[in-house]
Amino acid sequence: MSATLIDGKVFAASVRDKVAIHVARLKEAMGVTPGLAVVLVGDDPASEVYVRSKGKMTVEVGMNSYEHKLSAETSEADLLALIEALNADKDVHGILVQLPLPGHLNEALVINAIDPAKDVDGFHISNVGLLGTGQKAMVPCTPLGCLMMLRDHHGSLSGLNAVVIGRSNIVGKPMAQLLLGDSCTVTIAHSRTKDLPEVVRRADIVVAAVGRANFVQGDWIKPGATVIDVGINRIPAPEKGEGKSRLVGDVDFASASDVAGAITPVPGGVGPMTIACLLANTLTACCRSHGFAEPE
Ligand code: NDP
Repeated sequence: MSATLIDGKVFAASVRDKVAIHVARLKEAMGVTPGLAVVLVGDDPASEVYVRSKGKMTVEVGMNSYEHKLSAETSEADLLALIEALNADKDVHGILVQLPLPGHLNEALVINAIDPAKDVDGFHISNVGLLGTGQKAMVPCTPLGCLMMLRDHHGSLSGLNAVVIGRSNIVGKPMAQLLLGDSCTVTIAHSRTKDLPEVVRRADIVVAAVGRANFVQGDWIKPGATVIDVGINRIPAPEKGEGKSRLVGDVDFASASDVAGAITPVPGGVGPMTIACLLANTLTACCRSHGFAEPE
C-alpha cells in the first residue's frame, strides 16, 4: 500500500471534540443545551444499532438525546403527530427519522413533515433545494463528512476533477452538489454509465457510493487520486470462522491503495464521520434557532 490512509475515526473524534467544546460553551454562556430527537419505527436490528450509537455519542458531546421507539405497526397519522410535537418542542433542535421506514409509511411525506430548520439529515425537500442552489442548508451527514475529509486532505478542491459513483438522494446527488460548490468539475456516474473504468480514470477525486462490495478496481484509479469509499457491505469471512462476516467498502482496497494518493478505509473511514456530522448539524441547528454564532 502506498496511499496515505485518511483516518475517519481520528478525524471524527476531532469533530466530536470541537462540538463538545462548543456545546459546553453554549450551556455555560447561554444556558442552552442542544437536543437531538431520533425516531425509530420498527425493530430492524441494523437501525437499532445505529440509533443506539447515535444516542450514546449525542450524550457524550453533552447534548440531550431523545429516543422515540415506535412499533412497526405505527400509523402514518401517529408518526406525523409525533413529528409535529417534536417540531414544536423548543428543547429539540434536531430531528432524525431513521430510514428505512416500514413499507406502509410514506418516507417522503414523513421527511417533509419535519421542520426544515430541525432536519439534521438534510433530506427535507427545502434543504435539498437550498443545497442545490448554493444557499445555506442542512447538509446530509454522509456527504458532508466526505467533503470535510477531502478539504482537510487537499485544502482547496477548486478545479479538481471529481467522479461520484452513485446518484442516490442521500449520498451521490448531495455529494456532487457539495463538490460543485467547492468548484470541482463533477461527473456523476451510475448503473447506466458507459465505460465506468475510463470515466473513473479521469478523476482526481473518486467518491464511491454504489453498495457493491469491492467494486471499484485499482486499475480504474488515476495514480495519486484521492479515493473516498462510502460503501458498507457485509461479506462472508470464512477465514474468521464458520458463518462469520466482515465489512468491506465499494472500493477494492488492496488494489486501489497501491495506486491512489490517499484513501479512506472501511470500516473506519466515512462511517464515523457520518455520526460526527449529525452532531455538528444538531449544534448548527441549535445555534441558528437561537441566533447564536454558528460553529465553523
Ligand atoms: P443506493 O442503492 O441508493 O444507490 C446506489 C447507486 O449506485 C445508484 O445510483 C446506482 O445507480 C449506482 N450503481 C449501482 N450499480 C452500479 C454499477 N454497476 N455501476 C455504476 N453505478 C452503479 O445506495 P446509497 O447511496 O444509499 O448507498 C451507497 C453505499 O453507501 C451503500 O454501500 C451504503 O451502505 C453506503 N452508505 C454508507 C453510509 C455511511 O455512513 N458510511 C451512509 C449511507 C450509505 P442507478 O441509480 O442507476 O441505479
